[in-house]
Amino acid sequence: MSYDSNNIFAKILRGEAPCVPVYEDATTLAFMDLMPQAEGHVLVLPREAAATLPELSDAAARDCIAVVTRLATAIQAATQADGVFVGQFNGAAAGQTVPHVHFHIVPRHAGRGLREHGAVRAETADLQAVAQRIKARLAV
Ligand code: 5GP
Repeated sequence: MSYDSNNIFAKILRGEAPCVPVYEDATTLAFMDLMPQAEGHVLVLPREAAATLPELSDAAARDCIAVVTRLATAIQAATQADGVFVGQFNGAAAGQTVPHVHFHIVPRHAGRGLREHGAVRAETADLQAVAQRIKARLAV
């Protein structure tokens, strides 16, 4: 898949569109999903321009998954979840709607369903509040 540098995550990575960040370093950015399937739904992206995981360099994939692992632990603790889902879609046929590779981290509570994928926009203040809780756990 060729890379579309006008996709919304490319714009966020360039600072041309807003996000509510939870973590960033030289290779990776993580921010709150605008339409969370559960409170605490975070997206983790490599800065490298790649549409799908198979197109991503091994080095960027390693950096990204290390951040996913740390964040999954912090998110589960911050939301007092019973478990945590980590997911990743490659190509529209697989359910990918934004063509820049990313991992979803979604906290799960036993017996509680998920909101629909990419359906209902959250309030920025609510995203900021849960981002603060996640960042506090990352700092521990
Ligand atoms: P995909 O379907 O590509 O795996 O997931 C894309 C995700 O990005 C969806 O969960 C959707 O809610 C989220 N999303 C779409 N547009 C934006 C945006 O502008 N900002 C943020 N933070 N998330 C977005």
